[in-house]
Formats: sequence, C-alpha cells, structure tokens
Amino acid sequence: MESEKIRRVVIAGGGTAGWMTAAALGKLIGKNLEITLVESDAIGTVGVGEATIPTLHVFHQLLGLKESEVMAATNATFKLGINFENWRVPGEDYLHSFGFLGKDCWACGFQHFWLKGLQRGIDYQIGDYCREHLAAREQRFAVLPDQDRNHAYHLDATLYAKFLRKFAESHGVRRVEGKIGNVKLSPSNGFIEALQLDSGMTIEGDLFIDCTGFRSLLIEGALHTGYDDWTHWLPCDRAMAVQTESTGSPVPFTRAIAHESGWQWRIPLQTRVGNGLVYCSRYLDDEGARELLLENIEGELLNEPRIIPFRTGTRRKHWNKNCVAVGLSSGFIEPMESTSIHLIQRNIVRLMQLFPSSGIVQPDIDEYNSQAMEEMEHIRDFIILHYHVTERTDSKFWRYCRSMQIPDSLAHRIQMFKESGVIFKLPQELFGESSWMQVMFGQGLMPQRYHPIVDLMGDEELATFLGNIRRNVRHQVENMPDHRQFIDHYCKSK
Ligand code: FAD
Repeated sequence: MESEKIRRVVIAGGGTAGWMTAAALGKLIGKNLEITLVESDAIGTVGVGEATIPTLHVFHQLLGLKESEVMAATNATFKLGINFENWRVPGEDYLHSFGFLGKDCWACGFQHFWLKGLQRGIDYQIGDYCREHLAAREQRFAVLPDQDRNHAYHLDATLYAKFLRKFAESHGVRRVEGKIGNVKLSPSNGFIEALQLDSGMTIEGDLFIDCTGFRSLLIEGALHTGYDDWTHWLPCDRAMAVQTESTGSPVPFTRAIAHESGWQWRIPLQTRVGNGLVYCSRYLDDEGARELLLENIEGELLNEPRIIPFRTGTRRKHWNKNCVAVGLSSGFIEPMESTSIHLIQRNIVRLMQLFPSSGIVQPDIDEYNSQAMEEMEHIRDFIILHYHVTERTDSKFWRYCRSMQIPDSLAHRIQMFKESGVIFKLPQELFGESSWMQVMFGQGLMPQRYHPIVDLMGDEELATFLGNIRRNVRHQVENMPDHRQFIDHYCKSK
C-alpha cells in the first residue's frame, strides 16, 4: 500500500483530541503542510476529560507553552494524584500519587524495605515515604525543577480546547465550521478522499485524522475498522456528569469514590468542581444513578446532569489506510486513572515520529498500530486491577468484578506480587513501579515475603534508613506553600 506525498492534513473534530492534534502538527511540522480542522458547534464536544497525568507538561513543553499561562486560561489546579475512597472496603481510602516511593536498591524495590520495616513494627503508611503523597494529603504544592516534576492538572476541557484552538490558528491551522455528512472514499484503494459537509462544502485531503469522538465517523463509519470490546473486564458503560460551584479550597488530587455499582469523580478547578458517576447499567439504571450522584455532591449545580454512554475497548487499528484515529474515536478504557488525554498525546507524538511525508507505507502503519495497542493494553491491565482486587462483596457489581476472568498479563503481575513482592515496569509502559505498588497495597494485596537482600541490613540500620527518608519527605513538604495560595500567585504571574 502506498500513497502520494502527504501535503493536505484534515482533522475531523475539534474536541480536546482535535485541537491538541492541530496545535502540535501546526507548530511542530506544519510548515510544509496545509492543515484544516472541521468541527460542528451544533454537535459540540463530550465536555468531560478534566483530570490529567504528569506527561501533559511534556506536551506543553514541546509546544513551548508556559505552564502558568495554560493554567490561568483553563481555570486549572494542580493534581498530585488520585484519592481512592471505598475501593478495598467501604470507609477506607488510599492515595495513588504521582511521586516515587522511598529509594530502591539495585536488586529490589522500596516495597521490600518497607515490608521488613512493617514486620519489625515500623508501622508508617507507605505514602509517608513519598513527597507528592504527603504534599497532596497536606494540600501543599510547589512547582519543582523540571527533572523533579511529578504533577499534573485539573483543567476545564472546554477552555483547554479554546486555548489550543487559538494557538493552532496562530500556527496556520484553518478551521471550518460545519457538519460532516459524508466521507468520500476512493473507488480504487478505499482511501478517504474528502469530507462532504451538509453545507455542500467538500474538504479534500491526503491524510485524515479522526477526532470525531465516540462517533468515529471516519475510522469506523467509513472504514469499518472494527472494535475490540473490553466490557467483560471493564463493565461500566455509562457516566453522568454535572458541574457544581466550589465550596472550599481545591484539593491537589482527584477524588475517586467507589459506590455499589461504579464510582464517582470529583475534580476541583479554581472556581468550580467537575463531578460524575461512572456506572454499570446492568446494575444501576439512570434514575438511580442520578439520585446517587445528586446525593453525593456539594455546592450549587451549574448545569443539568448529563448522561454519557460509552463502551470500553479499543479500535482494532488506530491507523487504517490514510486515516489515524486520535482520542475517543480510537477507543476508551475508563476515566478512572485519567489516561485518555495522555493517549491522545502519545498518538500525536507517534504520528509525528512516523509522519508519512513521502507517502503512506504499510510498515509505518503496522508499527504505529502495534505500539498504540501495547500502550492501551498496559493501561487496561492497571485499571482492571482497581476493580478486580477488592474485598468488597456488598453488591452484584463488586462480586462480578472480584470473580471475573482477568487478562493473563495482569494475573501474572498479581501472582508475582503476592508471592514475592516483585513489581516490574515494561519498557513502553506508562505506569511505573510506584504506581503499581500504591494501588496493589491500597487494594489490599500483601506479599508473602520480602526480598532476602534486605536482610543484609540490620534492624537498626533499617530503622535509620526508613526514618531518614520520612524526615526528608516531611521537610520538603513543610517548605511548600498552601496549594490554593500557590495557584493564586502563580496564575497572576503569567
Ligand atoms: P469529543 O470531545 O467528543 O470531540 C468530538 C469532536 O468531533 C467535536 O468537536 C464534535 O463537534 C466533532 N464532530 C463529531 N461529529 C461531527 C460531524 N458529523 N461533523 C463535524 N464535527 C463532528 N480523559 C482524561 O484524560 N481525563 C479524564 O478525567 C477523563 N474523564 C472522562 C470521563 C468520561 C465520562 C468520559 C466519557 C471521558 C473522559 N475522558 C477523560 C476522555 C476525554 O474526555 C477525551 O479523551 C477527550 O475529551 C477527547 O475527546 P475527543 O476530542 O476525542 O471527542
């Protein structure tokens, strides 16, 4: 399969995915391209997707965006992790923070030292050995030097798309408003030739980026690429979202509160809070979801609760012929660990790395698809862990999650951790050892033994080692300002 030189890029859709793609292509490789983005104001965007992970500032750095400016424009707060409430058992919580726990040695991870400490009665929470963990708990924050940054943002998705639109247009991206009514394919090779708008306008292109969200007009509607359904592992299939006024200072973490048939998010922005319930329609109907959500929010409603149906899974190919799916059109895992915007960013970077300037060839497509799939599967396993490893038996939903079959790759990790406390990170994997560790302990997994190398350290030496790390973490956090005060000052400095 080969195509002509790529000169005209057409982005279908202008949500977070569309405008992130337009901003990056426009700024970084747009000089020799003609980039057009089509979006429909009448259709609008999904309007959620407000919690991010630390990789986003790499994207902003690539674009040359100033952090304080992005934050001021998007009503953003800082995020140091996610607090999981009621996940192992009702009434208990744990924090998955973005920081690193303790210190590893060449042979084993920090959890082995902590485990031995626990056996010797040094009973501190594992999070006490992590700067971001403690800072989140104490609601403190400071921007640290680049190599030490483990923070993300909570931001207003609509304002973020607007901000990126302005940026992309200033780098030559042309925006067309209108509804795509038809996708015209080439009769010879099945490639997309043009988008036909209801207005009668036709937009021709060489490469098409499908950012039409769950509608997936190009990659599925026109090219019938297929979808691998993951609902047997990730059974939630609906969300209900609503915004409320802030009732206090924003915390520097997302709250993920488990309920009987799903979980609820609370995402604090500077002046409002994004709330939503993710639930499984097999066990909870929309009326019940609405009641549950409204019972569990604080502050005045700023809009009516909105239902968003979804199907967890992945498009079988993220790049098919001359169409690349970015954003929800490429699949959706679950909002729990805020990974969708990260996957958008990864697909954009990968596309630029494999950009088919002199024509589309199959090896590029295959490489792109295999990397994209691998990343999705790693994240999928991490998310399933939260549902599957639980002691909750109080509802049909949790009983299903506990007993469901899980992917072999995840079963292997759980088994290893249970037996020997070993956690590993694969090269292309997003979540590192500290993330797996916090969630595995938080969900109630406890290894049977620690690594024997830790026994080379005597009890006293171990107590000093652990004590020093804790003191150092506490000292760093005590020197950080209050999160709210920091934001007010930082955003004014833009
Ligand atoms: P959309 O926002 O739906 O945009 C689609 C675009 O296509 C729109 O501009 C629309 O107008 C256009 N379009 C569609 N059809 C046509 C047509 N016929 N003609 C012209 N234009 C058309 N991600 C995170 O990283 N963190 C989170 O916390 C998070 N929470 C989420 C919670 C829920 C419940 C859901 C469902 C998703 C969440 N996500 C989250 C994912 C995140 O919302 C999306 O990845 C992100 O918003 C990108 O969406 P999108 O741009 O692909 O689609």
